[in-house]
Amino acid sequence: MRRPMVAGNWKMNGRRGMAAELAAAVAESAPRDIDVLLCPPFPYLSTVVDAVGDVGVTVGAQNLCAHSDGAFTGEVSGEMLAESGCTHVLVGHSERRSLFGETSAQVASKFRRAQDAGLVPILCLGETLDEREAGRTSEVLDGQLQPVFDEAGVEGLARAVIAYEPVWAIGTGRSATPEQAQETHAWLRARVSRESPEVAAGLLLLYGGSVKADNAASLFGQADIDGGLIGGASLEADSFLAICKAATAQQ
Ligand code: PEP
Repeated sequence: MRRPMVAGNWKMNGRRGMAAELAAAVAESAPRDIDVLLCPPFPYLSTVVDAVGDVGVTVGAQNLCAHSDGAFTGEVSGEMLAESGCTHVLVGHSERRSLFGETSAQVASKFRRAQDAGLVPILCLGETLDEREAGRTSEVLDGQLQPVFDEAGVEGLARAVIAYEPVWAIGTGRSATPEQAQETHAWLRARVSRESPEVAAGLLLLYGGSVKADNAASLFGQADIDGGLIGGASLEADSFLAICKAATAQQ
């Protein structure tokens, strides 16, 4: 049985006071029978780690450097994140791919580096609207996954999470329907199963893209959707907690 996870990606929002308050509110009321993860901006990681304390809510970063040390001005390594109290890190979020030009090969290097630093990578994958409408969704996802298989092997996915985030659904208010999301999640699980049925069976597959309190239950009720990666709705404690509750109800 896979334990559901709900992760909040705060992106580049808020200030320290908001980070502390939001984290404390989530920590106070988050359900204890699912995994709840908060991914604040880098400068607020330690604030959030302190605010959540030891109630079981964990903290992740939104990105990491593909190297552990050295002359990489402006970058942050996985080791630094682990030392700051992170357990997880997002890799390959669509904004990193589209705005910062990260390739699937670079994302795969970051995936591997995260694991070498003792972090659980959350590998974000997804197709654009044009790609979906051209019937290329599985081809695109395969192209994003293959470098990870090449870099880390299927065993790498035994210590990772995948977040399927259709680009057209992120921040648009237009979520995938539960059926569309389930179809793609089932494809992803079957794709991993071709490499290892055991890894596929245990793999957490999160859905991300305009998840809100009112559509979370129907998405999380699908057989291959194990929780969500939440952007906008994670910036407000009540909506994020309602989404967490929806994941609990699906167990
Ligand atoms: C995200 O940024 O990963 C995301 C899913 O955003 P939103 O929930 O706002 O669509």
